[in-house]
Amino acid sequence: MIAESTPDAPGSLYLHVPFCATRCPYCDFAIHIGDDHLHQAYVEAVISELDHLAPAGRPPAGLDTVYLGGGTPGLLEPALLAKLLGAVEAKFGISTGAEITIEANPTGVSEELCRSWQALGINRLSLGIQSLNDRALRWLGRNHDSAGAEAALVAAAKAGLENVSCDLIYAIPEQPTHVFQEGLERLLSYSPQHVSCYELTVEPNTPLARSIATGRVARPQEQDFIEQHRLARELLENAGLFQYEVSNYAHPGRESRHNLSYWQGGHYLAAGCGGHGFLSTSAAGRLGVEVDTHNVGVRYWNLRSASTYIKQVRTRGHGRRGFEAIDRDQAEVERLACGLRLRTGVLLSMPGQVAGAERLAQLGLVTVAGQRVAATAKGVEVLDRVTLELVTATPARQLK
Ligand code: SF4
Repeated sequence: MIAESTPDAPGSLYLHVPFCATRCPYCDFAIHIGDDHLHQAYVEAVISELDHLAPAGRPPAGLDTVYLGGGTPGLLEPALLAKLLGAVEAKFGISTGAEITIEANPTGVSEELCRSWQALGINRLSLGIQSLNDRALRWLGRNHDSAGAEAALVAAAKAGLENVSCDLIYAIPEQPTHVFQEGLERLLSYSPQHVSCYELTVEPNTPLARSIATGRVARPQEQDFIEQHRLARELLENAGLFQYEVSNYAHPGRESRHNLSYWQGGHYLAAGCGGHGFLSTSAAGRLGVEVDTHNVGVRYWNLRSASTYIKQVRTRGHGRRGFEAIDRDQAEVERLACGLRLRTGVLLSMPGQVAGAERLAQLGLVTVAGQRVAATAKGVEVLDRVTLELVTATPARQLK
């Protein structure tokens, strides 16, 4: 299901909360370590930015999804979360049955905390478990161990949270495939409704990238990527969690509605440092972001540093650092690239694409049903190639 939105009124809102207890060496998100004294000022700045964004539109039935991501939003005091969500409700409305997600790390997640989140309307928890092997968790620099992760899962279940997603990382050099399998099987014994399973990515300019460059730690191995990706799909699907997106698995009806709105090309608002939003040109115009109306949308992004963000919101009302107009060609490329990540695939919109899809189907990389194309399991493993084939089969002049 896609978040309900009209061209002028996005149905989804992302709120970035950058605070973390410790820095994981592989992380390149916009984060702040140990700046607890900033929490209050930061939440006030985000609320001010919501005032600025409100002219971009109030969906008729209120927001369909709100996503508190980070960083570690679970570190915010419930009273500050209440203030933030209260402001969201006041400025945009939140629809009945909306999906409201909070990301948290296992450390500090208790039954009591889960209950307090539920009392605020938060109905989905995304838990950064990453591994259930202590050696792998130490290698990742996580500040929890496997017992802490399992305790958090038990706490969420006891609190009655019925929509829990677990993040896992695979192809960790310290975690051979049989250890990854043991951890995944143990995780499945807790019956999570959703699992996000990402390969370890070495982002440039992270402590992990530097450690690999100096030979201090091993580089993730290509063979582990493929082997563990296949194993994850088999174990998760056998447990009834279907791969609805390349890296995401869910019981039917428990797919992330918020993330689906991104992958299905929906418009969404974002507030907070490091946030990225995507608006229609008319909605963006009301925020003072002027682009030619032949474009189909505007992507904007905020300052990454929380303290700079707070200062700018105080003086200018928003934390925006930049924006770009998205024209039809770019939108089409993004539509294909995102749609191909989904099990349901994407609709082809022009003859060149159909010919490209038929070539890929002969290689067993996609299935084609009418105008809809979807990557096969084999195609998912070479998705960049599949996407490129369809994009190059889409002459730019046909997009005008
Ligand atoms: S907890 Fe998440 S956001 Fe925070 S440093 Fe680790 S990976 Fe980054």
